Amino acid sequence: MISSGNQKQAPPKGVGLFGGTFNPVHLGHLRTAQEVLEEFGLDHIRFIPAANPPHKDCHDLVDGSQRLAMLKRAISGNSGFVASDAELKRAGRSYTIDTVRQMVRELGPDAGCYLILGLDAFMEIDTWKDYREIFKTISLIVMSRPGSSQAFREDGFQGIEAHMKDRISDAYRTDGNRRTFVHDSWQPVHLCTVTSLAVSATTIRRIIREGRSIRYLVPDAVAAYIDDKGLYK
Ligand code: ATP
Repeated sequence: MISSGNQKQAPPKGVGLFGGTFNPVHLGHLRTAQEVLEEFGLDHIRFIPAANPPHKDCHDLVDGSQRLAMLKRAISGNSGFVASDAELKRAGRSYTIDTVRQMVRELGPDAGCYLILGLDAFMEIDTWKDYREIFKTISLIVMSRPGSSQAFREDGFQGIEAHMKDRISDAYRTDGNRRTFVHDSWQPVHLCTVTSLAVSATTIRRIIREGRSIRYLVPDAVAAYIDDKGLYK
């Protein structure tokens, strides 16, 4: 078929916004994001490294340009993943609500934006700037994440219902199969059980300091970059 040339481009099916420190990006981020991409049939996921994360101990935080360079190497060849410098370009602290507003504005109302985060990050979202505004502005996808603070439950979401009602809004209620929280005027919160990968950037930095190999915890291209630049020693 020959295109008429002036056809309107179809809006994206959905765009995931995946913020984090990515210090460094690891296979826990990549595999779980891939599963969310497929489960929700998203057009793509934007990995958005924070310039100056308000919630992290920053003593071993490497430069934003280096974290972005590692991300680009990690996602190279995956058309469903995009590295975004939106927060690195903005001056000052990286607040999620600012990024969400910026992206929703840029992508337009039909894009279907989702904010993606792991359960550990979600359980402290009530400490983030204007956190209720986040729930009013964008749908969330919360990924299960293995962690010592979460007692075991088969779907990996122990404690989330009480947290939603106590800390976010008691008007959130679960749908029939308890995979989505809905609200009459705010955005839905979806739960996504992903492969349990107990890998964290903290562990990776410690392994490097101890002089051991991070092979098979990060993509080879990321390990090579870290080695080449002598990061996290
Ligand atoms: P650090 O150990 O330095 O705190 P991290 O490994 O938790 O870092 P972040 O960059 O802080 O990585 O994480 C960004 C997002 O990815 C967060 O929402 C976090 O919950 C999620 N995430 C990170 N690792 C995993 C994992 N293994 N499984 C599921 N979600 C993850």
